Amino acid sequence: MESKNYNSIKTIFVDLDNTIYEKEKGLLTEVSKRIDLFISSRFKDIKNREEYRKKLFDEYGTTLRGLMIEKGVNPEEYFRFVNNINIEDFLERDEELINVLSGIEQEKIIFTNSPREYALNVLKVLGVEEFFSYIIDIRYLDFIPKPSEEAFKRLFKGRIKPEESMIVEDYEHNLKPAKKFGMTTVLVSNENNTKYPHVDYYISKITEIEGILRK
Ligand SMILES: [Mg+2]
Repeated sequence: MESKNYNSIKTIFVDLDNTIYEKEKGLLTEVSKRIDLFISSRFKDIKNREEYRKKLFDEYGTTLRGLMIEKGVNPEEYFRFVNNINIEDFLERDEELINVLSGIEQEKIIFTNSPREYALNVLKVLGVEEFFSYIIDIRYLDFIPKPSEEAFKRLFKGRIKPEESMIVEDYEHNLKPAKKFGMTTVLVSNENNTKYPHVDYYISKITEIEGILRK
């Protein structure tokens, strides 16, 4: 691994789902159940939902993007249904995360394929909303999700430079374009058997970014 001076990192982009909270909390599983319910209630012709969703995800990056293109789904209607979840049933105030984030001087920005109000609710329940200067959500991305390069280009339209930024994600696929643009990439995962050329650092939970930044 090339050595880098982490003082050069000025901005940290943090994914939301399964990154800022652990996968085991089950929130994204609940969102996924509601996506299933959305599809089954509106498109009775789709027999194998699991297969169809996988196809959409692989081809378009998110189920929503696929449903918008293939089925003309209105994204606002989709969000109202899919993200209609009581976040507090899944997450709680995270003192460890609050501690870690309060000690990181770099600017922190949420970068998510979810809508802003859902992201904000998650941050509020965790108790960390004050640490993030922006939420770059799917509307800001004009519904073109990660891992499309288009989504990443939007991050660097202003003052932020890719080589001065780090991205923390649970989905390795989303780190491919990040690496291509020159960002420092961090994968949050409990399954660290695979090594990817586009991943600089592996951590098992978000709070470990502290260790990377101190290096
Ligand atoms: Mg994620």
